[in-house]
Order: sequence, then C-alpha cells, then structure tokens
Amino acid sequence: METRYPQMQAAEPDLDAIANAYDELNKDFDRAPGSQDRLAVVRRWDGLRRNFGTWEALVGARFAQNTTSDSAVASKTRHSEIRPTVTSMEVEFQKRLLASPHRADLEDQLGSHAFAVWANDVSTFDPCIESDLVAESKLSTEYTKLIASAKIPFRGETLNLAGLRKYSTDTDRTTRHAAVSATYGFMEANGAEVDRIFDELVALRHGMALKMGCENFIELGYRRMQRIDYTRNDVATYRGEVLKQVVPLIQKLRSLQADRLGIDKVMGWDAGLYAPDGNPKPHGDHDWMLKQAQLMFDEVDPRIGEFFAMMVRRDLLDLKTRDGKAGGGFCTYFADYGVPFVFANFNGTDGDVRVFTHEIGHAFQGFSSSDDRLLDCVWPSYDAAEIHSMSLEFLTYPQMDKFFGHEADAFRWNHLAGALAFLPYGVAGDHFQHLVYDNPKATPAERHEMWRSMEAKYMPDLDWGDIGYAAKGGRWQFQGHYFGMPFYYIDYTLAQTCAMQFWLACEEDQAAALERYVALCKLGGNAPFQTLVHQAGLTSPFKEGCLDRVVQRAAKALF
Ligand code: ZN
Repeated sequence: METRYPQMQAAEPDLDAIANAYDELNKDFDRAPGSQDRLAVVRRWDGLRRNFGTWEALVGARFAQNTTSDSAVASKTRHSEIRPTVTSMEVEFQKRLLASPHRADLEDQLGSHAFAVWANDVSTFDPCIESDLVAESKLSTEYTKLIASAKIPFRGETLNLAGLRKYSTDTDRTTRHAAVSATYGFMEANGAEVDRIFDELVALRHGMALKMGCENFIELGYRRMQRIDYTRNDVATYRGEVLKQVVPLIQKLRSLQADRLGIDKVMGWDAGLYAPDGNPKPHGDHDWMLKQAQLMFDEVDPRIGEFFAMMVRRDLLDLKTRDGKAGGGFCTYFADYGVPFVFANFNGTDGDVRVFTHEIGHAFQGFSSSDDRLLDCVWPSYDAAEIHSMSLEFLTYPQMDKFFGHEADAFRWNHLAGALAFLPYGVAGDHFQHLVYDNPKATPAERHEMWRSMEAKYMPDLDWGDIGYAAKGGRWQFQGHYFGMPFYYIDYTLAQTCAMQFWLACEEDQAAALERYVALCKLGGNAPFQTLVHQAGLTSPFKEGCLDRVVQRAAKALF
C-alpha cells in the first residue's frame, strides 16, 4: 500500500539505541571474515542511516510547514542537539570502511565514489567540534525563524516576505518602490539581530576550521559542500568568466528593460519587471496549476508525467503560502519511503512556475535514483543536484503555454533574462562569502561594505536610490544560504551554466535532450560534479569560454 505524506512517520530516534546499533555494526564489521560479510554490514549501516535520514527529513519538512508549531520546533531543536553525535558515530564507521583490508573489493561492489565521499566527510568532522556544530545549527534555525516571523503591514494587508515579493514586480512603479522599501524596512528593523547571528556563525565556523587544522573556514566549507574535484581557484576562474561574459550582457539588458518600461533607468525596485503591462502570470490558481502541470509533464516525458501523478496522489507537495510557513522552496527525501517531498510558497506570480519546475527537477532525480544503491549515492553534491532542477526549468520551455497561454513567449524571455541576470548576483554572493571567511574578524559594518563592493563589481548598474539600507549593503541579509549552508550559493550558478546548455540542446532536439537529462537523473550521486557534467555531455563551468555559446545564443534571443 502506498503511504501518503500525512501518514508518513519516523519514530523519534533514541540516542542510546543508535549508539548500541553502531557498537554492533563496528564489532561485526571488524570481525567479518570476508568482503561479502563486510558488505552485509555496510547494507545494515545504510538501513540505519535511511531510518535516521527519514526522521530528519520529516522533522525538517514539518518545521518548514509550520515554524510556529511547538512540537515541530521541539523536534527541530532535538534534531539540532543530536545530529552531531550521530555524525560522530557515522564518521567512526566511515573510518573503518576507509581502512578496511577489503577496501578494494568493497570499492568494486559499492563504487569508488562512495569512498571518496566518505574520505571527504571524515575530514569535516571531529568530536572536538561537536558542540560547535550544535550551536551553529541553532543559530541557523534562529535566523530562519526570524525571517519567517515577518508580519509586514502593507496597504491594509499583513504580509510575510514572500507575500510582499509579488508587489516588487507590480506594474505601478510607486507600488514596487513601496514594496521593496517595506522589505528593507523589515530588515533594517531586524538587521542588528541578523548581524549578531551571522557574527556568531562566522566566529564559530572560523573556530571549527582552526580546530580541524585549516587556515580558515573556506577550506572546511568546501569540504562540507563535498567539493571533491575542484578548488577555490577553479571557482575564481568561473567568477571571472561571468564577469567577462555576462556582466556586460546584463548592462545591455538593463538598458533595454528601461526602454521597455519607459523609464530613465532600471532602479533596484524595477529589476524584476520586464514589461510595462506586467510579467505574465499563470492563468489560474493552485489547483488549476497542478492540473496544467500534469498535462505539461505528460507531454514532456511520460516518465516525468507518471512521477508527478504519484507526487500528487501521495500528497507530496505543499505549495501554498501560509502564515508561519518558512520562506523559499526546497525538495527533501524520505529514504524509507523512497519518495521526495516538494515545498514552495506560491504567490500568484510567474515565480511559482519557476520554483515548481525547479523543485520537481530535484524530486524527479531523487526518485530516479531510488534503487538499491547506498544512500550516499542517491543525491550528488549540490552543484550537480542543481543541474537537474535548473535544467527542467529550461526543458519545459516548449510547454509553457500550458500556464501562460499566448504569453508563453514573454515568460520564456523573462525566464532567460532572469537566469542570466542571476549569474552576477550568484557569483557576487560566492565572492562575498570568500571575503567574509578570509577576514573572520571583520565587523558587521565591514561585512555590509564587502557586500556593497560586490554589488559594485558584479552589478555595476544596480542603484538603490533612496532605499538607504540596501544602498549601504544590506541585501545579503535576505540570503538564507549564507546562514544555513555556507558556500552553497555558487552551486546555482555552476548548475545554471550547465542548465543553459540543456536549453540549447532542447532547441536542437527536445527528445534527445530529455534522454540525456533522464540518464543524468538516474546517475544521481554516483560520481563527483565534473564527472557527471562530462557524462551528460556538457562543458564544465571551470573551462574558460564555457559561457560563450549560451551567451551568444541568449543575446540573439533577448535583443
Ligand atoms: Zn534547487
């Protein structure tokens, strides 16, 4: 029988029971006479991790669905408290795997990538940082709660940040300005608290890096992101490509946008609007969108269509915005049930369709990789994972009439413009974090100045006018990744660079592009980033000139 999401559960883990289970595993692994016996112990370990992972994912999803629920908060807190202890047990077992006399046999059976991942994971953890990890996780939850608590009065309504965002693309310029001002007004009122949280996070992370023998947090941060096959120098090369290829294109785009909107200059509050009569909106509500999505996916690929029907049938989507719901969108995975879950905050804009196809891309990959492989090989590192999500945004271009009718062209134009305009913002966020962790003693004011200098470098046209808090470098405080997942942000830009290659492939031959896409989803986490990119027939973002073809094609489409 299929379990629907509301009925899914995982017992709250008992730390003593987990510790006993690990004792048994360690003993059995050490005593196992041959590699087949060891393999059986590894499978038991994987089962234990799947149980814990299911609880962890359910706790995360239910907290995000209602950040004000006492029981959800209590479980989330409990998770923050016990996670590092469980990690330390996992690391102990991983060390045994790495040192096993049967390692070569095991690598043959389980794939060498799993061992590379474990060697990396082992290097990110030591019991001496356990309490720091607990503190780090609590701080990041504090930030999420603070942002989710936003209740901003706006023209007779009380809105959270997601609710307010839709007014930032209103056709009335005064409304856009008021919405963006109100957004920054909220952050100005809470900025000192956000600075305090971030300051503590930076100090904690730097301290952990020193304890782990790193010079600063950047090295440890890269390892935590499982960057096995590239370094900060490669990332710097990529940022340079964006600066050279994309920043001038966006300057040209902004001037075209100003012409289209009939204004002198695109200001900070105009950037998201591309046409004077408004960005196209999906032509219906949440329930209608689900029906259209089914038609779309059936047409794109029957495998994706069937998958989506299952997600709807089993209630694995929570897409409507509500008070107390955490912001943003994400996809998580319940390993014991072999199914993903998609979370979003629909607000009636074209952004809904973007977030939706994006998260379904993640979900489809997770589901495609749900076979008997080890849990560590279901999901790749995030840089590769974002290729599945962002590519599906492009691969569904031909079907966008399902949501936007005759405005589908306008949607595609906006999406492409937005995808490109995102790259400078994304690399700015990455460069910013390098500055932050290279200078861990910087003051909050200096960090705001760092962000301002990143805007000047990568978004030279950006003008915040009279919105002083933004002009002084406050925008980074909205980006939750810097708090919860340091160094994640570049992954979106690396993946976007790959996803846009799928766009070109789709224009040439949609069926062939989808075949490659589905194959990449099935590979899941079987290899590191650049290997997956190569196997999907894509050019690595770390190669100079990686953006040439897409930028040329995009310029033709946009201008
Ligand atoms: Zn994503």
